[in-house]
Amino acid sequence: MSAETTTKPKSSYVLGRAEVRAVERVSPNFVRITFGGDEIAEFGTPGEVYDARIKLIFPPASGILPPLDRDTDDWWGSYLAVPEEERGSMRTYSIRELRVSDAGDTEVVIDFVLHLAPGLTGPASLWASSAEPGKELFLIGPRRGREDRGGIEYAPGGASSVLLAGDETAAPAIARILEDAPRNLRGHAFIEVPAAEDILAIGAPEGVEVHWLPRGEAQHGLRLIPTVLDYLGDDDTDEIVVTDIDGEDLVWETPAYSGLGEDVENAGASAERYFWIAGESGVVTTLRRHLVKDLGIDRSQVAFMGYWRRGVAMRG
Ligand SMILES: Cc1cc2nc3c(=O)[nH]c(=O)nc-3n(C[C@H](O)[C@H](O)[C@H](O)COP(=O)(O)OP(=O)(O)OC[C@H]3O[C@@H](n4cnc5c(N)ncnc54)[C@H](O)[C@@H]3O)c2cc1C
Repeated sequence: MSAETTTKPKSSYVLGRAEVRAVERVSPNFVRITFGGDEIAEFGTPGEVYDARIKLIFPPASGILPPLDRDTDDWWGSYLAVPEEERGSMRTYSIRELRVSDAGDTEVVIDFVLHLAPGLTGPASLWASSAEPGKELFLIGPRRGREDRGGIEYAPGGASSVLLAGDETAAPAIARILEDAPRNLRGHAFIEVPAAEDILAIGAPEGVEVHWLPRGEAQHGLRLIPTVLDYLGDDDTDEIVVTDIDGEDLVWETPAYSGLGEDVENAGASAERYFWIAGESGVVTTLRRHLVKDLGIDRSQVAFMGYWRRGVAMRG
């Protein structure tokens, strides 16, 4: 057999050790961390990254990263193959920025929300709060040059305007979408954040108005939901109750996929306006109910995505 026929094709994912290169506390509730390193040199395709989701594996209490098989497409199987106490924790994040130098050095920038209140924090937020240059985690995402969309949900099709809405966990994805979008895009972005100091710079197209909604002492979602509904002309916003949902699953209803098993036959239908909504699952579900049931917006125009769930630790 020749050497060529025995060469194993590279997996379509990069699962690699990523080293912290820089840590910047950009606001009271966001820390911006830059990762680099040889094992992520072929990570991601620069250009239109939009809301691409990636996975991070944080080390367990020992601080030692698990011994993962890194040369596989089955990154989930590779993670589960390690005994639970050595495995660490896997969580989902967005790419705030992907930088590839002419020499091929790759840097991935992630904005982490610091939710550190006792009982309301988790391994990802804790790790990010004490990260410093030289610390490592595993990063999982599409290998450069892959032809599919590799975890991108944002799909406005032929829509001439967009409405993007989300909380602080969706802020990095919204920022990336707006910075990657064509400069003639029109629309509005509504972003609820914990405090006014969490308002961060976004290089949005001129025709997109970015509305930051600091929540202060208000309940999560109770600045975002009425503002979006008011804007859409729903006059029934006096008694907004954030939906309390059972189970651990996150709502995930997009034009192309339905977690609830709804009909997605109209996927890709062209509409004037495209909606992209992400954040706490109950808040997203509440917005969904108002948009689809009260305002009659077609599900094929909207991506509704739960990014986290109040009171529930994610499992990957
Ligand atoms: C596609 C996608 C993209 C995402 N992108 C980002 C991103 O770029 N930046 C980012 O910070 N997050 C992002 N998230 C959300 C992030 O994955 C979750 O917040 C995750 O739960 C954090 O893990 P943890 O270990 O800190 O907390 P977990 O162990 O998962 O949860 C522990 C506790 O913390 C609570 N909790 C979790 N997140 C928050 C929060 N933000 N505020 C208050 N309480 C919380 C939970 O309800 C639970 O009670 C994204 C999620 C998805 C699905």
